[in-house]
Amino acid sequence: MPYTDDPAALRTVCLACAAARNGAAPGCQTACGESIVRLDDAGVPYLDVSQAGCTYCGDCAAACGPAALDTDVGRRIAADIILARGGCLAWNRTMCIQCADRCPDRAVVFAGLWNPVVDDEACTRCGLCVAACPVDAIEITARVGGRP
Ligand code: SF4
Ligand code: SF4
Ligand code: SF4
Repeated sequence: MPYTDDPAALRTVCLACAAARNGAAPGCQTACGESIVRLDDAGVPYLDVSQAGCTYCGDCAAACGPAALDTDVGRRIAADIILARGGCLAWNRTMCIQCADRCPDRAVVFAGLWNPVVDDEACTRCGLCVAACPVDAIEITARVGGRP
């Protein structure tokens, strides 16, 4: 989820939130206009960026009952991003710049025509490039248990 530097602590709050909701959808999920907030088997929210990415609109944080998401954290998601060169069209000499075109932070950098890499510092893990890539060559994974 966005707006946390401590996904493990967030998970603890979200588990309590899930128990209190008794099956109802959490505010973060219903508030997300991009429909990317999903719930795992324990009712804890995570982001599915396979079809769309996070715009950092802040609506999930505003709708979080326990106020566990803090927009002061800024535009970042505690996750890792991998651009798989073996699956990437450009790295295999087929013209493609869709990830770079979609990135709002210019975090996909091309070395020449064929070699896109993600600038780890500039990237916020928003997932917009994941959804844009026609061959699913980019993956965002959680750093601690669960999903991003
Ligand atoms: S910041 Fe906005 S787009 Fe991103 S997960 Fe929250 S509600 Fe969805
Ligand atoms: S996940 Fe990173 S590289 Fe991809 S679009 Fe978002 S900021 Fe750019
Ligand atoms: S969108 Fe996908 S295939 Fe195209 S350059 Fe980026 S990672 Fe490679």
